[in-house]
Amino acid sequence: MSGPMSERTVDVAIVGGGGNGILLACLLADRGLTVRVLERRDTIADRPRAFGIHPAALDALDAVGVGDAVRAEALALTDGAFIGIDGRRAAVTFDPRDFPGPVVLGQNRVEELLEQRLHALAPGALQRGVTVTAVTDQGSHVTLTATTGADTFPVTATTVVLVDGTNGALSERIAGPARPVGPRRWYAMAEGDASPDDAPGSVALIASPEGIVESFPLPSGRRRWVAWRGTDAPLDADSFGMLVHDRTGRPVGRIHAPVSVFAAQSRRRRALVHGRVILAGDAAMTVSPIGGQGLTIGWAAARVLADELASSQRDEPPRLRRYERAVDRMARRAQRRASFFMRLGDPTSSRDRARALAVRVLALSSMRRAVYRLVVVRRP
Ligand SMILES: Cc1cc2nc3c(=O)[nH]c(=O)nc-3n(C[C@H](O)[C@H](O)[C@H](O)COP(=O)(O)OP(=O)(O)OC[C@H]3O[C@@H](n4cnc5c(N)ncnc54)[C@H](O)[C@@H]3O)c2cc1C
Repeated sequence: MSGPMSERTVDVAIVGGGGNGILLACLLADRGLTVRVLERRDTIADRPRAFGIHPAALDALDAVGVGDAVRAEALALTDGAFIGIDGRRAAVTFDPRDFPGPVVLGQNRVEELLEQRLHALAPGALQRGVTVTAVTDQGSHVTLTATTGADTFPVTATTVVLVDGTNGALSERIAGPARPVGPRRWYAMAEGDASPDDAPGSVALIASPEGIVESFPLPSGRRRWVAWRGTDAPLDADSFGMLVHDRTGRPVGRIHAPVSVFAAQSRRRRALVHGRVILAGDAAMTVSPIGGQGLTIGWAAARVLADELASSQRDEPPRLRRYERAVDRMARRAQRRASFFMRLGDPTSSRDRARALAVRVLALSSMRRAVYRLVVVRRP
């Protein structure tokens, strides 16, 4: 655990120091608010979930002064394509002026850069190794009960933001369970060496009668493969490599263990503001990772939240209507996109013809902008 344990009331206490919690803390500190971030983990997770940083996410990173550091280390995507079962391609080539593309950098590295920035803006604001076990809205302020295991202590704040992730127990206690939205499907995911056929900046969604496969380039030179699975049964690296090869017909470099198998599901909550307690990040809305846009949406929403919190009166609970509307709008759009990708890739749904038609329509050259808007989050 790091940082001072002062007992003074802070403007905003943030529960959860993942990507969304840390970025929000930077935005608030930059606006002159006092912040404290309480994070259960001692260190940043070493295996990143997100890699794709969309233009809207880069805008948010620029707003706290780490955009250039991210660009300097990231891989710039050059193009993205859907490849239909009949081999038809719907593609978009990115260009900085009309079709700016995402860049690729591991979420853990971006979180490291954000953490350094927070330390510069508000030294000691992030406290690791601290779990919050209770949240009590006292009307004029909020009291948190926090523990390091050895030590339990209160934290008081004018406002609390719960950024405790998609399965956050505190968010569930305050706001009830999140509502599932769209399909729930199983996928397997692993990294593999690139093969000579893989263009370094190209991302592809490849449909096959056995299910869709995504091929995503990483800054390390490897590729991340994600494949639809009808089951949660575990899979070893060799079997996963064969599955990818059989479905795509492409040469596949050596797959590295572990192969993770996960359920993808979008979720939404109706109310994000509960007195002086607010939900943000995946705790507010979860976008299925198929399409890879959850962190981007969380960061874009954090900018709206920071502006509204900075202009709120301290003596009454914040209203945050603009924030709630922004999350609702962005989540709906991103979740619709994710559902489209998930249905496009599911061979058990009886919509083969609809899927083939969708790719055929998107393959028309006049649909370039539509393809772009499906795969890239440019502006919230
Ligand atoms: C496989 C996969 C790929 C993805 N790819 C992309 C992508 O390419 N692009 C993209 O934009 N998004 C992507 N996403 C989504 C992205 O990873 C998430 O949206 C993002 O990590 C959510 O961040 P968060 O800070 O809201 O939650 P989390 O990262 O889950 O952080 C929550 C934090 O809260 C802490 N915490 C929880 N409870 C407590 C407590 N009681 N006290 C103290 N601390 C607590 C946890 O330890 C954790 O660190 C992907 C997701 C997955 C699963």
